[in-house]
Amino acid sequence: MNREERFRKSGNKGESKVKQWISENGYENCYYSNAILRYLGFIEKNASTEIDGLLVLENAILVFEIKNWNKISRYDAIRDIYHVRINVYDRKLKSPKEQNRKHIEIINKLLRIPIEYLVNVCVIITDDGSDKIWVHVENDYNNHQHLIRFDQIKSVVDYYKSKKNNLFERDEYIKRIEMANWGGIQEYIDNHKQYAIYREKCKKEGVKAYGFYKCDICGNQLVLGKKDGFYAKCTGYPKVCSKKTIPIAKIEDYVVNNEEEIAERLIKNMTEMEYKKRIEEYNNRISIFEERIKNLNIYIESKEKELFLIDEELEKKRFFEERRLLKQEVEEIKIEVSKIQEENSDKDEIIRDKDNIINKLNNEINHQKELYQKTIDFKMRKIVARLLNR
Ligand SMILES: [Zn+2]
Repeated sequence: MNREERFRKSGNKGESKVKQWISENGYENCYYSNAILRYLGFIEKNASTEIDGLLVLENAILVFEIKNWNKISRYDAIRDIYHVRINVYDRKLKSPKEQNRKHIEIINKLLRIPIEYLVNVCVIITDDGSDKIWVHVENDYNNHQHLIRFDQIKSVVDYYKSKKNNLFERDEYIKRIEMANWGGIQEYIDNHKQYAIYREKCKKEGVKAYGFYKCDICGNQLVLGKKDGFYAKCTGYPKVCSKKTIPIAKIEDYVVNNEEEIAERLIKNMTEMEYKKRIEEYNNRISIFEERIKNLNIYIESKEKELFLIDEELEKKRFFEERRLLKQEVEEIKIEVSKIQEENSDKDEIIRDKDNIINKLNNEINHQKELYQKTIDFKMRKIVARLLNR
């Protein structure tokens, strides 16, 4: 681990501690930690600034700068410098107020959030409790400037929580922060780290321009160039602009002061560009998903067909079995019937006999009737003859 990494690690420890306080006190839904705001900068075309924490209350936004130092051994009140130790290295560090003031300025310009709603909250944390002795606590409530120890966060938050202001457009500010915040995405975290290193290097070489600059001819962004020393160049050159170089000493003549224009030119274009990129990525992912879903549907369809065939097969087998059982039953009944028939085979004969007897009897009756009639007829004729012969 090199020196820079050690400092960063120590800083992360402080940020985590504040983050924990935020969630324990129910503010996690309106707290943005390690927000990275990207804009079209000067030192590099794509610049960024990292804000340790943004707490959006009902009527104020607290901008946190969090320092975690192992130990403070002295505070130089005249120069506002802390003598600190971070992971075995001794350092003299300026109070973070000024650094955070720059963050606030960028938030104000890029996100067009009025400066009076932005509260500068620097929190100095130490591992050994030396903050209790050395942190020069400042609570300037009128100018919204605070430099505090960790245990004082609550009182500052409580104060701004109770503030009232009808002009505070909370939803709009949250929307702008969320649009412009690229923290939490590794690509931009890495870019920011590289940018911060390069900016420090430029600073050491005497380039301290952090404003937003534009060309007076074409209105394009000005960026830093280096060839036998630093200079400014127009990004429109040579395509749309004839302005090639501007001496770095004159850069402040090109600064953009109009806040609307800064926000419009810088963050909006940047954000739209990034969102377009992201939308394209999502669209690609969606088309991949759609393709997969299509293939899955085809697969499901084929499986359903298979299932249907299996079902049909099963159905057939079931009917075959029923048929077999039915057939068997029918066979059994047939056997039963034939058995019964066999047992009753003389029945017909009996019936036939009976019929014969009945027929014979009927014939006899008819015969007797006939005989009787003949006798009567004969006797009648006899009687008639005797009567006539008289
Ligand atoms: Zn130009």
